[in-house]
Amino acid sequence: MDLSDVRRHHLSVVLEHLVRSGPRSRSAIAQETGLTKATVSALITDLLDRGLVQELDTPTAGRVGRPATDVGAAGHSVGALGLEIDVDEVAACVVDLAGAVRTVHRHTAGNRDVTARTVINRLRDVTQRAMADAARMGIDCIGATLALPGLVDPQARTLFVAPNLHWFDADLRSLATQLRLPEHFPFTMDNEANLGALAELRHGAGQQFDSFVFVSAAGGLGAGIVLDGRLLRGAHGFAGELGHVVVEPSGKPCACGARGCLETFLHSDANPDELARHLADALRTVVHLIDPDAVVLGGSLAALGDEFAHAVADHLHADTLGARWHPCAVRRSTLSTDAALVGAATAALDRIIADPTIVPTRAFAH
Ligand SMILES: [Zn+2]
Repeated sequence: MDLSDVRRHHLSVVLEHLVRSGPRSRSAIAQETGLTKATVSALITDLLDRGLVQELDTPTAGRVGRPATDVGAAGHSVGALGLEIDVDEVAACVVDLAGAVRTVHRHTAGNRDVTARTVINRLRDVTQRAMADAARMGIDCIGATLALPGLVDPQARTLFVAPNLHWFDADLRSLATQLRLPEHFPFTMDNEANLGALAELRHGAGQQFDSFVFVSAAGGLGAGIVLDGRLLRGAHGFAGELGHVVVEPSGKPCACGARGCLETFLHSDANPDELARHLADALRTVVHLIDPDAVVLGGSLAALGDEFAHAVADHLHADTLGARWHPCAVRRSTLSTDAALVGAATAALDRIIADPTIVPTRAFAH
């Protein structure tokens, strides 16, 4: 690491500490992070210049001696955009650095049988409305992430395939301009189930589990896999395509080209118990392979209620080898249909926390 890498890393350590642990004095930060007081002071000045932290007027109560000015993450005045394209809607939200969802805009309409341009125009409208809300609330938006229902290459900004949208090899490099995001605005994209799993990890049922599988179900069905607190992406980011695990080899054709995929049972007239049985069959393989603590049911699967979750658990435990000793928990997501959207904004905030120098310093004095 050269000097700027070291500084970037230290800025990240201090910002993350303030975001996760709350406001405190500079000397407390120094003590808790192992950095010197002088270093912490310089880092805080830098973060103040970028508008990512703020000085607080009221010192934390209960402290003895001369009160020092506490600093805290600019929780309510800095935020990120979460954007989503799904089969039946587009959406945009703003989540602030404190983790609160401040605004959500949706446009519900079929995206399958219209042009990509129409879908992008719909997304641009909800994005602009969310950004206008942010401006009105005094939230400085510092980045955006887009959730997509398919296989995504975030670096190349390409959506390889979204079978339910009928999008193939979609070049999304000019998307930021089409959405009228500000110039040089940090913007990336990822698979919606991966982002849903990130939201669960930070804000939902995943907070209590180190390893879990988030099952996302809306237009299609996918999974985001968290192992030991980290998202498992696979070699190409393609991991977690649970919806295309074959559960009935002679079943109906799927949008992916195979037959009898789990996803084909999501919209068919299969009764909930049949769906629970097929879902448990697919999950059993996952549990045997990676041994998660829990499965978190999201989207339309969460909406099916506790009875459905219990049915999945019963089918799963009945034939899973390790279930007698450590049965994999089956929970409903508490983030309902917002998991991917909130996860998208969370990913954008995470990028800033990992490298605060992405946010430019401001001209004005503090
Ligand atoms: Zn399939």
